[in-house]
Amino acid sequence: MNIDIIPVTSFQQNCSLIWDDRKNAAIIDPGGEPKKLIEKIEENGLDLKMILLTHGHLDHIGAAPALKAHFGVDIIGPHEDDVFWFENLPQQSAQFGLFEANAFLPDMWLNRENEVLEVGSLKLEVLHLPGHTPGHVGFFEHQNIVAFTGDVLFRNSIGRTDFPGGSYDDLISSIKEKLFPLGDDWIIIPGHGPYTTIGAEKKTNPYLK
Ligand SMILES: [Zn+2]
Ligand SMILES: [Zn+2]
Repeated sequence: MNIDIIPVTSFQQNCSLIWDDRKNAAIIDPGGEPKKLIEKIEENGLDLKMILLTHGHLDHIGAAPALKAHFGVDIIGPHEDDVFWFENLPQQSAQFGLFEANAFLPDMWLNRENEVLEVGSLKLEVLHLPGHTPGHVGFFEHQNIVAFTGDVLFRNSIGRTDFPGGSYDDLISSIKEKLFPLGDDWIIIPGHGPYTTIGAEKKTNPYLK
């Protein structure tokens, strides 16, 4: 699997572009700067198959409509419990101090636990990871033991739970009951900051002692 992590917006959100050896690609959390993302996709000669979203925060989804318009592919995810974040997109601009955005809805919600999405030879399992937002999901690529988990778990930190619909207890359950059992070698690509591993976070993350 090829992975290009492209930080976007003033929040330095990690947009991940992934593709297989035949250039079948998906983009995860295109939060902003659509021009830059379109250039990356076209520079690499990639065949974009889908736009995947972990949760409904503007810095993770802001460029999704522009990419959909350009490439004609579906916006998939997160879980439907995040619908209010999509409906509130214009307010999120002011709330987060980011660019203006119109409300939109994904083409498909990811409400089925363990659903597997195929991007060429890549297989992404979907797990519901509520807590930071109620409809937050993660994408798990078992062949390469890499997970794209948005704002759930960071290197030495965890996601905020003080937004509407957030839940500290749900976040800790998502981490301890869904991420930790994956195994220590799994690589976690978070929504912000450097990547980490499950093993490293079990050992050093001060929020998970
Ligand atoms: Zn977020
Ligand atoms: Zn974020």
